[in-house]
Amino acid sequence: MTYVVGLTGGIGSGKSAVADLFAARGALVVDTDAIAHGLTAPGGAAMPAICAEFGAAAAGADGALDRAAMRAMVFADPPARKRLEAILHPLIRSESERRLAERPAASPYAILMVPLLIESGDYRKRVDRIAVVDCAEATQIARVMRRNGLAREEIERILAAQASRAERLAAADDVIDNDGELAALPPQVERLHVNYLALARGFG
Ligand code: ADP
Repeated sequence: MTYVVGLTGGIGSGKSAVADLFAARGALVVDTDAIAHGLTAPGGAAMPAICAEFGAAAAGADGALDRAAMRAMVFADPPARKRLEAILHPLIRSESERRLAERPAASPYAILMVPLLIESGDYRKRVDRIAVVDCAEATQIARVMRRNGLAREEIERILAAQASRAERLAAADDVIDNDGELAALPPQVERLHVNYLALARGFG
């Protein structure tokens, strides 16, 4: 059994930055977003089922999920999102389980990075502990505007569809404050890493 720490946070909170710091300390990081991208890349394991469900127009010329076409389908027919998730979620789950099971001995615990962990009862049950990357909404908006060039209104819509900052904090066992400079992250991650090593030693 692997001691699994679920790492989450709102869009732009700094999950990837924090995950990189855990990885640099030798922890296995399983990123469910990266798995979802792989499943819907050219030749991805989810693509045959997606094309069977939504038609060939769901894929672009390269065979990858046509995200713009899919967004339009979901916008026109909101239940389509559930049909897409019904294909993707079990595949993401089995692939993340497979990667966790292959945890190298050098990584006594694993980080499971799940952007919508708080929103998902299933993931909350699967992790042994929840670490939340936290910052103010205004900070999230500024970072995502800079990173993705999205309009403020679009980011506010995404934030509104995610758990609130208070909901995330209420579910957190550990909070990583990322409202300050990047340099404030390594000491916090180091402290948690030492604690997770100790928890993993006493586990299973
Ligand atoms: P998430 O994975 O939660 O969406 P990222 O780790 O990608 O967030 O961070 C969002 C953006 O903000 C990235 O471009 C990242 O480089 C930047 N960023 C993250 N933390 C900080 C920070 N403390 N100070 C300045 N920029 C940051």
